[in-house]
Amino acid sequence: MTIFSRIIAGEIPCYKIAEDDHFFAFLDINPLQKGHTLVIPKREVDYIFDLSDQEIADMQVFAKRIAIAIKKAIPCVKVGQCVLGLEVPHAHIHLVPMQSEKDMRFGSETKKLSPEEFQQIATEIRAQL
Ligand code: 5GP
Repeated sequence: MTIFSRIIAGEIPCYKIAEDDHFFAFLDINPLQKGHTLVIPKREVDYIFDLSDQEIADMQVFAKRIAIAIKKAIPCVKVGQCVLGLEVPHAHIHLVPMQSEKDMRFGSETKKLSPEEFQQIATEIRAQL
């Protein structure tokens, strides 16, 4: 079971944004920017391009809904989207609010937020769904 499956199951806490029958969105615990969110399929698949055509299309539509809410909640120029998947073997889309290109530089220092700040950000994004 991946760490993300354990988050979906509620065994590991997260700052949840949304879920439906097939997908789940929650704040990245090491955010590049405030509002950095991960969108994952509930089905445990490592490599995103091993998802079926229908799953990947549905996941993108789900991520779009989340990205629109993030943009309303967090001041930014655009919400960027990226797929890496080298750390956690459970497919995920990163959604990151950007002011400029450098805000999506993976590998750069991440923001240190308090539990209260995470909670506040999650509440603000959820309010825009
Ligand atoms: P990637 O696999 O795309 O390289 O990165 C995995 C992402 O998952 C990282 O941005 C990392 O901060 C995030 N991550 C890893 N473990 C956890 C966790 O237990 N909870 C949350 N919310 N995010 C995690």
